[in-house]
Amino acid sequence: MKRFNRRSLMKGSLMPLAGALGLPSISEAAQATASASRRPKLRITDVRTAEVQVHSYQVLVRIDTDQGISGLGECVDAATGAIPNIRAFGRQLIGQDPLNIEAFWERARTGGIFNGAQAGQFTCALTAVESALWDLAGKALGVPIWQLMGGRIRSQVRIYADAGARELRPNDDYSKNQMKRIVDMGFLATKTDLDDAGDPNRLDRVNWTATVGEVDRMIEQIRFLREGYPKNMNLAADMHGRYDLGTAKRVAKELEPFKLMWLEEPVPPGEVDAMADVRHSTSTPIACGENVYMRWGFRELLEKKAVDIIQPDFQKCGGLLEARKIADMAHTYYVPLAPHGVSSPIGMMGTAQVCSVIPNFLVQEWHWIDEMDSWTNWVQEGNIINKGVIAPTDAPGLGLTLNEEAAKRRQVPGTPWFEPLPNAGRGRGFSAPGGPGGPDGGRGAGGGRGGAAVAPAAGAPPAANAGGRQQ
Ligand code: MG
Repeated sequence: MKRFNRRSLMKGSLMPLAGALGLPSISEAAQATASASRRPKLRITDVRTAEVQVHSYQVLVRIDTDQGISGLGECVDAATGAIPNIRAFGRQLIGQDPLNIEAFWERARTGGIFNGAQAGQFTCALTAVESALWDLAGKALGVPIWQLMGGRIRSQVRIYADAGARELRPNDDYSKNQMKRIVDMGFLATKTDLDDAGDPNRLDRVNWTATVGEVDRMIEQIRFLREGYPKNMNLAADMHGRYDLGTAKRVAKELEPFKLMWLEEPVPPGEVDAMADVRHSTSTPIACGENVYMRWGFRELLEKKAVDIIQPDFQKCGGLLEARKIADMAHTYYVPLAPHGVSSPIGMMGTAQVCSVIPNFLVQEWHWIDEMDSWTNWVQEGNIINKGVIAPTDAPGLGLTLNEEAAKRRQVPGTPWFEPLPNAGRGRGFSAPGGPGGPDGGRGAGGGRGGAAVAPAAGAPPAANAGGRQQ
């Protein structure tokens, strides 16, 4: 049999070879190069980051290898402070085989605590690294992420448009134009915010017990949207976990005639008993999860039947495979999944790749309607949303190439741009099956006890969600 190296196969389509070799030969060659036992070992050579501010503060991660293959990942929101943690993970990854993703992930999780004070930022950092490893693995093996996640069950992933930075109000020309845009772009689902810090009906600037005037304003807002959109537009509403229990139950009840797709975070997501109380008081579907992390974070919500829909954010919940596991856990409770999303096309495609294989997938959020220039230029593939769906291709990994020139226009001032990992090579390495240290001999990403080693960040990152924008 003619020999092929992995690069010759990865460089281009296999189709031109088909005539010369016949399909069995191609399959044999592909298996020879993709086989874990026969392929040349990849080694991670660098883990680099770039910080951008578009909808909110976002961190991009790029993992490089000795064979010229790189993977891209992203984390959002709790990404503030993630850079030192990503660098700590990166130092552990240098020299490692990037394809042993589960081994790295579990070592990182158990090497740290990842709960309480070590929840959001640690998990968020891990998420970006894990996502980049999946892009890298797909490119190395010549398959899309959806193939690695079990194989797709849908080719088109439904997307819903958040209405944008300025909320939509009754009898307002901006609102009518924005609604027309959403319809014209082909979306069949959208979301609006009900909490309004500037509502003159509020009791004061701190208290979030809604007055009758405030509740009436919410109802009129939903009535305006329900009557203004076509009948087949699915409508969700977000309360951002600000209100008290009585308000949450009252609003959910009064919104029942409008048949919302869901009411989001009527109370804070950590208040599971209160969330369950709301859910059991109304026929309006209740959703939450954008600020809940990993399977362990969602377990009580599901066990107590506190939600109708869960909303993990795949760019901060623990990673792409962890998101799939969360979805599978919810599936056993007959709860669908509607991922929260504020990320760039890199994160949105990562989420869509996984959603294409999730049976209980409902709809995925998109939040860049007011950032169309960045959205359409962020990757060389252009606008990845067409007529309200993302259709992941057969291209390896994410199937996207970052347009650095466009992304760099949103760089956080004073931050490094994909510069080499400082102090690389200090780490002990994670425990990879069959690798140095053996399956039981390595230490976690934090180098053992205490989790990821946190070094001072170069330059203070902006505050979380620094733009003050809602999700
Ligand atoms: Mg939300």
